[in-house]
Amino acid sequence: MAMSPDTQERLEEMRSALVQRGVVITPKRAKVLEILAGSDDHPNVGDLHAEVQRWHPSTSLATVYNTIELLKETGQVLELEFSASANRYDGRRPDSHPHLVCVECQRIDDLDVPESKGMFEAIGAETGYEVVRQRLDYYGICPNCQKKREARLSR
Ligand SMILES: [Zn+2]
Ligand SMILES: [Zn+2]
Repeated sequence: MAMSPDTQERLEEMRSALVQRGVVITPKRAKVLEILAGSDDHPNVGDLHAEVQRWHPSTSLATVYNTIELLKETGQVLELEFSASANRYDGRRPDSHPHLVCVECQRIDDLDVPESKGMFEAIGAETGYEVVRQRLDYYGICPNCQKKREARLSR
């Protein structure tokens, strides 16, 4: 599988953060990192586990959880918590950023809001807080689900 330069770069950042912590990067852990570094669809633990198992069938769910914990501790993955469904993970962009969430298929897309970074400073100046992260989700119906809906209605 060819890796894009961005994915390669993220993978190196993740690896060195873990190595600096004294973590041994086993082949299974390396696979979790590789999948996270290259996914833009915000997989949950189950998705990651299934994907790693394609390469290393004996991988346990605990290995995936442990690896994510280590990445969280080192700031190398962004965790999106949901009360009604499984947490989702963004390893490609570990900094906090806004998301679009489809209420029908639970697809999650990144939303590029260029002024996000300046907002931290603006809010800090206004409130005296040192702003360290943000959580901003927009909920809607994704283009695919809209098409499915139209197809249902026109039947
Ligand atoms: Zn959808
Ligand atoms: Zn994201």
